[in-house]
Amino acid sequence: MSKRDYYDILGVQRNASAEELKKAYRKLAIKYHPDKNPDDKQAEDKFKEAAEAYEILSNTEKRQKYDQFGHAGMGAGGQAGGGFGGMNMDDIFSHFGDIFGDNEGFFSGGRSRGRRVSRGSNLRIKVKLTLQEIVNGVEKKIKVNKLTSCGSCGGTGAKDKSSFQTCKTCGGAGAIRKVSQTFLGQMQTTATCPSCNGEGTQITSKCTSCHGDGVMNGEETISINIPPGVSEGMQLSVGGKGNAAPRGGIPGDLIIVIEEVAHETLNREANHIVYDLSINFIDAVLGSSVDVPTIDGKARIKIEAGTQSGKVLRLRGKGVPELNSIVRGDQLVYINVWTPKNLTSQERDLLSQLKDSDNFKPPLTKK
Ligand SMILES: [Zn+2]
Ligand SMILES: [Zn+2]
Repeated sequence: MSKRDYYDILGVQRNASAEELKKAYRKLAIKYHPDKNPDDKQAEDKFKEAAEAYEILSNTEKRQKYDQFGHAGMGAGGQAGGGFGGMNMDDIFSHFGDIFGDNEGFFSGGRSRGRRVSRGSNLRIKVKLTLQEIVNGVEKKIKVNKLTSCGSCGGTGAKDKSSFQTCKTCGGAGAIRKVSQTFLGQMQTTATCPSCNGEGTQITSKCTSCHGDGVMNGEETISINIPPGVSEGMQLSVGGKGNAAPRGGIPGDLIIVIEEVAHETLNREANHIVYDLSINFIDAVLGSSVDVPTIDGKARIKIEAGTQSGKVLRLRGKGVPELNSIVRGDQLVYINVWTPKNLTSQERDLLSQLKDSDNFKPPLTKK
C-alpha cells in the first residue's frame, strides 16, 4: 500500500499557508479523535495519518524536503509504507497545545485526563570535592534539609484510612467534562476538577502532625556516588531525592552542583594536572632525580644533565580521568631553575671562578 500525499490527507493546496494547514488539521483531529470514535480502528488510522501529515508540513524544513523528494525524502519513518512514521499517540496529543491553543481546551493533551499527581520540587545543593576525590570518584553522604513525607499519615495528609471521601464534584475522576458550543459544533472539553484539584479524593479529617499537607520539614542523609572526572559547575541529578510531594505524589530530584576545592600544590587544567617544580641550577647542570607530588602520592622523576628552565616533563596517565571513560589525562611537570639570592663569601668565590668559563656563556640564538 503506497502512502497518500500529505496535502491530500489534509485536503489543502500545495501552497497552503501555515494557518490553513493548522485549520485543516484541527478539523480532522476533531473528526477522527479517539474520544469521539471509540474502538474505531479506521478512525484511529485517519487520526494518525493526519497527525503525521501535519507534523511534516508544519515544519518548514521537513516540508521543503517533502516537496522536493516526496515520501522518499522523509527517512525511515516516512518509508514505512502506509504505516505510521514514528509518532505515537502521546506525541500526537503533545501537539494539541499548539493546535488548540488552550491547555484546558478540546482534549487537554490526553485521551483521558487522569487524576493529577502532585510533584515535589527539586532541591539543589553544592558539594565540595578535593582533587583527589575528583580523580578517584567518591561516595558522599550528605545531610539534606528537605520536605519529607509525614510519618504519621504516610504522606496521605489524612488522619486515618477512613478520613477520605471520593470527591463529589468529579466522582473521583479528578477531571470534569463540559460540553460547549464552538464554531466546529458541539465539543466536549475536559478540565481539572476545582474541588479536589484533580486528586479525585478529599480529606474529611486531617492528619494532626502535618495538618493535611502530607509533608513536613525534615532531613535525610543521602548517599551519592560521584563518578571520577567531574568538574566545577557540573550538575548531577539524583532522581526522587528532592522535596517530597504533598499527599503521596512524586518527589522532586536532588541536583548536585560540583565545586572543586583547590589542591595545595597541584593545579588542574582540564584533564591534566600541572605541577611547578623548582630545581637549583646545579641539579639543572649536573642532572638529578627528584620526587614530585602526584595525586596518588609521589613520583620520582629524572632531571637530565643540562636541563633548561621551562622544560616540561610528562607523567602519562597521572592526570584526571575523563568522565565516563577509561582515558586519563597526564601530569605535567614545569621545570623552573631557581636562582639563589643569599650566598656566603665562600660560595661567591667558588662561583666567581666559573664566571669566565666558555661553557657558562649562553648561546646568542633566539630562544
Ligand atoms: Zn474532584
Ligand atoms: Zn501527616
